[in-house]
Amino acid sequence: MEFFSSMLDVTLRTAKTTTTMSKKKRLIIPIFIPFAGCPSRCVFCDQEGITGKGQMPSAGDVTRVIESHLASWKGSGEKEAAFYGGTFTALPVETQRRYLEVAFGYVRSGGLDSLRVSTRPDCVSNETVELLTAYGVKTVELGVQSMDDEVLKLSGRGHGVNDSIEAVRLLKEHGLTVGLQFMPGLPGDTEAAIIKTAEEMIALRPAFARVYPALVLKGTALHRMYLDGQYSPWPLDEMVKICERILTLFNQAGIPIVRMGLQPTTELRESIVDGPYHPSFRQLVDNLRQTRF
Ligand code: SF4
Repeated sequence: MEFFSSMLDVTLRTAKTTTTMSKKKRLIIPIFIPFAGCPSRCVFCDQEGITGKGQMPSAGDVTRVIESHLASWKGSGEKEAAFYGGTFTALPVETQRRYLEVAFGYVRSGGLDSLRVSTRPDCVSNETVELLTAYGVKTVELGVQSMDDEVLKLSGRGHGVNDSIEAVRLLKEHGLTVGLQFMPGLPGDTEAAIIKTAEEMIALRPAFARVYPALVLKGTALHRMYLDGQYSPWPLDEMVKICERILTLFNQAGIPIVRMGLQPTTELRESIVDGPYHPSFRQLVDNLRQTRF
């Protein structure tokens, strides 16, 4: 999750994440790398937080993070290490290898079951995918954000819809599990564009999706657009309504949305200027959904 993870911190951070997608709890060990490799600056990304202050984790840091999570893990589900933040596949190949080598050592020894990384659609090629699969990566989370070229352009994404379609095709062709990240409410977004994005993402048949409504964060280009009157964030109630429709569409297609709304952290709360934020955003969507049945 390129945006989500870069938002959280500029330095190596860890948190234990479990998912109940299967009956057995799964351990995902997040290894946050600071903003790195991104070929363009997305207007919503917290540049203040992701430039200057962060340090790339060393190989030793990666080992320590994995060891500490494994030591305290009591579950019996699959165990995975995930490189989140920035654009993993656009890092220099030697850097990717250095990180993957450490983590893959745990896969080889049976300490972990697999690895995952997050990246952008325009940074996926045959070479990058072959490197990932050679090092035990099974899942790639792709920051697609929108399936509308105008929205992508206004958001400074630097890639188009076709890049997303091609990236998903390539990743799947190599047998990788693909998760898509969706950011409704970006500049230029309309109800129709958001529903079109949901439908076109579903047509790509990802294994799962994450939905993070667009927020205005301090120091971003979006913040400047907001101050200049060029961007108005979606009101919370409108965003909850459209996310309920998104959830319904994904549910009908049998594709789980594993997260809706950013994780409430102190850093996030301090960074938000405006936008449809709620610490229990998914709960609001689920509550609305229940009233419809
Ligand atoms: S690709 Fe965009 S959203 Fe992702 S970390 Fe880079 S600047 Fe931020």
